[in-house]
Amino acid sequence: MQKKFVKHLLILGLCFSLLACQGQPISVVAETPTTLPATETARPAPASTSTLTPIATSTNIPTATLSPTALPSVRQTPPTLMLHRSNAKFDAVQFLREMIAILKESNLRVITYRDIQQNPAITATEQGKLFIITIDDIYLRYPMHESVIEMIALLQEAGYPAVLGIVTEDEYAYPETVAKLKELSDQGWEIASHTDNHRNLGEMERVSPRAIYLEVNDSLVKIEAAIDLRPITLILPEGQMINEGKQLRRANLTWIVGINGGTQYDTARDLLYVGRDGPGLSASETFINMMKRFLP
Ligand SMILES: [Zn+2]
Repeated sequence: MQKKFVKHLLILGLCFSLLACQGQPISVVAETPTTLPATETARPAPASTSTLTPIATSTNIPTATLSPTALPSVRQTPPTLMLHRSNAKFDAVQFLREMIAILKESNLRVITYRDIQQNPAITATEQGKLFIITIDDIYLRYPMHESVIEMIALLQEAGYPAVLGIVTEDEYAYPETVAKLKELSDQGWEIASHTDNHRNLGEMERVSPRAIYLEVNDSLVKIEAAIDLRPITLILPEGQMINEGKQLRRANLTWIVGINGGTQYDTARDLLYVGRDGPGLSASETFINMMKRFLP
């Protein structure tokens, strides 16, 4: 009899503890859905936000969750394309025409380094949806090369800004080139320095590191005089980075654009080195390789 009573008590106790346990998970389940979406929107989630327009994304996220501490400090550099004028072996205009079609199809947003500077969060909140186009070797003292004018027109038609690497040289500035650069800068394009004399800064560093400052700063002063805006970006001639960033900091630069490496950058640093890719055999092959390299 007593054994049976104890057994009943045990069963009763078990039922109570089961009930108690059931109560627990319910409250956990009820809590989880309210906390999960908050953490999901705080993290960059390319898949879930891909259907939203960039504007919708930024306004959907409460400002509090966009505090710099909530976002990772190390970011993927947006895939970045390096273009030059056409030459006998390469039709840069046709290549760019094909690349623009791919970018439109892929729904990518083309931005500049200055855009990131003005809205540092975008490389986290819109990771995987950004793209940068650069065109090097535009000389301030000469008319723009016909193929460069065509590339600029194609980009304007597509509504895409680009980053233009300007070599300043000499004291003379060609009026039409100046006017075009000013017009593009006012439209949100980025006019970057490609140094004064297109000198290889790595070689200069071995001989006279302090001369780097003059080579870079002279070009910044001349560009500022032309477009009323001092560049914050340096495109390295021959992609040659230097070991010591002191002279570039002195020139008040932020973005240092080379070729190799630089697929990530650390927002906590004051000098940001980023890499680029030149054209491959076709626009589609180049695009696939860029995605693999910058967004592994
Ligand atoms: Zn160059």
